[in-house]
Amino acid sequence: MKYLLHTYGCQMNVRDSEMYAALFDSNGLAPARGEDDADLILINTCAVRGKAEDKAVGKARLLCVEKRRRPLLVGFAGCMAQRLGAELFKRVPLLDFVIGTRSASRVPELLQRLRSGETRVALLDPADTIPPNPNQHPSPAPLSAYVTILLGCNRHCAYCVVPQVRGPEYSRPAQDILDDIQTLVNAGTREVTLLGQSVMRYGVSPCDAPHRMTKGSSFNREVSTFKFFNGGEAAVSNPLNVETSLLKLEPFPRLLHAICEIPELKRLRFTSGHPSGCTDELLDAFRTLPKLCRHLHLPVQSGSNKILSAMRRGYTRETYLETLRRLRDAAPGIAITSDFIVGFPGETEDDFEQTRSLLREAAFDNTFIFKYSPRPGTPAALLDDNVPASEKMRRNKILLADQDEVGQSLNDHLLHTTQEILVEGPSLRNPARWAGRTSTNKIVHFDNPGNVLIGELANLTITRVLPQTLYGRL
Ligand code: SAH
Ligand code: SF4
Repeated sequence: MKYLLHTYGCQMNVRDSEMYAALFDSNGLAPARGEDDADLILINTCAVRGKAEDKAVGKARLLCVEKRRRPLLVGFAGCMAQRLGAELFKRVPLLDFVIGTRSASRVPELLQRLRSGETRVALLDPADTIPPNPNQHPSPAPLSAYVTILLGCNRHCAYCVVPQVRGPEYSRPAQDILDDIQTLVNAGTREVTLLGQSVMRYGVSPCDAPHRMTKGSSFNREVSTFKFFNGGEAAVSNPLNVETSLLKLEPFPRLLHAICEIPELKRLRFTSGHPSGCTDELLDAFRTLPKLCRHLHLPVQSGSNKILSAMRRGYTRETYLETLRRLRDAAPGIAITSDFIVGFPGETEDDFEQTRSLLREAAFDNTFIFKYSPRPGTPAALLDDNVPASEKMRRNKILLADQDEVGQSLNDHLLHTTQEILVEGPSLRNPARWAGRTSTNKIVHFDNPGNVLIGELANLTITRVLPQTLYGRL
């Protein structure tokens, strides 16, 4: 049996798809070359906006037409699968299965039931709330790998469906994370991006549900007890017997320190951030850890305090901007990227102008702009979605144009400077040209005279800049 994965949505879904691929591989399936070649197609879905859901449903319906011609299994995983569950069998009548966000460990059962001819298999049991086995990584190991450290979300922003579909926060035991990264690095990975919805809350929330305890010991102990790789010699550190100052750190900065001790790892990133997690200890990590990349994705959503409060974001325009100042002070040159929602209920022209002015004041390197989409079951869905679609579109376009200007002028300052990149290899569009990324996560294209290898750090002089791309010379 051959499988194919279609992935919609965020990096968390990209990572989950890697996990599904590894789970299918280890259960006797083989990757298909394309749709025509596949016996099973899994669509990994997003539920953050209505449009993302419509796209996935449309895709599934198209694939199900194909089922009239040949045997083919089609199913949903991910956030929409969790949100709509068996309801999806009504929307896509020939759909074969749905698997929820925390049920990946039931892939063997899923396959066995499908093989025995069962249709409409739904694996969504709330009792499944076991974190999927996140240790499964693709092979060969990617140069730059995602590692999920925090599942779920406890923040409950008024517009957001994520806490509903991904459940409460769960921090993976630190030792598991370190083992994962060490395994990846041994297989060739040089850069790791740690993933979590509000990733700086790693290890913060208490964990009481029995399913969240693994290996028989209590969660808090597991989160805070892990090895430091002091020059290759692993020593188990015990929080009750504090010997190193690092053990006194908050869990997230402590994890960053421990990961940076892995010698062959060249770069470490994490996403997404929240101003409340930008503590002095995190800023110190930026000051003292050269491997920690100078980039932070810190979604702001709006520049109006009225809207921020209605969104329940937990900061004001002023405290957000103050956080940026502190970050830039600790890590000069750090690139900040952000998300905005336009057309949240009650967003007036004046609120929108405050968002525009914040975008300029914050000087974001890049932003993602979304038109507000009411999500059933969220607090904001009870409010009147009173900004017309055409107005949301107008605001979206204006912010995009504003960001292009800001991004271009920031990049202009990089012209003729020297930038260190991690070499990723021939670029996808033009294989004659190579590409790599700066620590600030900007893509740089360059001609490789043949002496630069994938996975190396290299210094380039920037010769040309566009809003999204840089060009450089070795
Ligand atoms: N956990 C991440 C965000 C996950 S959703 C974080 O908090 O940073 C990614 C982005 O989608 C959000 O930052 C927000 O800008 C957007 N988004 C979320 N819900 C939305 C909704 N109902 N309508 C429009 N955009 C939304
Ligand atoms: Fe959604 Fe807010 Fe959690 Fe991000 S922090 S996933 S926007 S609830």
